[in-house]
Amino acid sequence: MPDKTCAVCGRRIEWRKKWERDWDSVKYCSDACRADARRAPEHDLEGEIGRLLDARARDSSICPSDVARAVAPDDWRPLMEPVRRAARRLVARGEVEITQGGSVVDPSTAKGPIRIRRPRT
Ligand SMILES: [Zn+2]
Repeated sequence: MPDKTCAVCGRRIEWRKKWERDWDSVKYCSDACRADARRAPEHDLEGEIGRLLDARARDSSICPSDVARAVAPDDWRPLMEPVRRAARRLVARGEVEITQGGSVVDPSTAKGPIRIRRPRT
């Protein structure tokens, strides 16, 4: 089975037997993410990540809080997890990398503070 990432949280979707027949149509890792998908996104967080990265030197990185503060300066804390989700979706598309201590980490399992940067070759 090819690897898939959740359209909401960007984590790898673990294949389950119950999806044997409709794996091609599976888009979410959990009922919680399926429910989130029904709510319209409040902010264009993926777009903001791209804009902030493009405004900096090619090899610099940003913190999720930079993104949250840029879109909601007065109420940015609730956006921290949504920003991390947006960053994981961008990783799944090859547009950014998530790092900890300067090393690229697996976005599905990374815990604790992260930084976001453009892929380096
Ligand atoms: Zn998910």
